Amino acid sequence: MRLTFLGTAASEGYPNAFCACSNCETARARGGRDIRHRSSALIDGQFLIDLGPDLQSASAALGIPLTGIRYAAQTHEHIDHLEPGNFFSRSDMVGLPNKVPMEWLATAGALDRASRTFDGFQPGQSFADPTIQDLFNVRHTAIAPYEERQLGPYRVFAVPANHGRNIQPLLYAIERDGRRLFYATDTTTLPAEVWQTLATHGWRFDVVVMDHTFGTGDRTAGHLNAVEFRAHLAAMRAHGLLADDARIYATHIAHHSNPPHDESVALAAPHGYQIAWDGLTVEV
Ligand SMILES: [Zn+2]
Ligand SMILES: [Zn+2]
Ligand SMILES: [Zn+2]
Repeated sequence: MRLTFLGTAASEGYPNAFCACSNCETARARGGRDIRHRSSALIDGQFLIDLGPDLQSASAALGIPLTGIRYAAQTHEHIDHLEPGNFFSRSDMVGLPNKVPMEWLATAGALDRASRTFDGFQPGQSFADPTIQDLFNVRHTAIAPYEERQLGPYRVFAVPANHGRNIQPLLYAIERDGRRLFYATDTTTLPAEVWQTLATHGWRFDVVVMDHTFGTGDRTAGHLNAVEFRAHLAAMRAHGLLADDARIYATHIAHHSNPPHDESVALAAPHGYQIAWDGLTVEV
């Protein structure tokens, strides 16, 4: 599998357009790896994780077309991960010459948000109607914690995140041809039950991508800071969930708690993990 990061910022973007903190000012001055779109990722040019609000600008800025998307998995419905307008951009209404249908695995909350956006879009029809799914060029399927689905060549296993009350995001364990990826944002600390369940199902990851929102900060509401990030890695190692040569990447990087890229890289390196950037491609 080839994983490409399309976005690696937390919910407000990095730099945050409205923020004049020193991290955002440095990011503007340096550009390059310091410019982060809201989090999403692409596998093999055909499998998208999260239809976020920056997909269009990330695709254009990085020179990565999304014309080959056949599959997508949605972590949750938060506004930095789901922009239902992306469905409109894939619809019959905007004159696409290529019509590649997309299977969309989504949490119940994400399906509900998309449905509320498009209910009544065509008089008397809902997002669930086959005619509307045809219009948007999508087939959607709900997925719940600890369920598994096959999306083409990909085995997808849903892991419950811990992201706050009234929301149940999913993290995704994904396997193709014996290679395994764990994409794990947004979440704060996970209970031992999660690691035990992954171990029971025989998961052992070659690449892990994990929430690093609060970086050097003390706050952890709904997300991880660097101390908890490292504790997660230790727990995964203790449960036999990491391959000997596993590579670890931090994503969902927030401007308020993570210094600019080079400084963040220097902080992470002694602890055996890397800071992802927009456009980074990793062979899983
Ligand atoms: Zn988020
Ligand atoms: Zn800032
Ligand atoms: Zn979230």
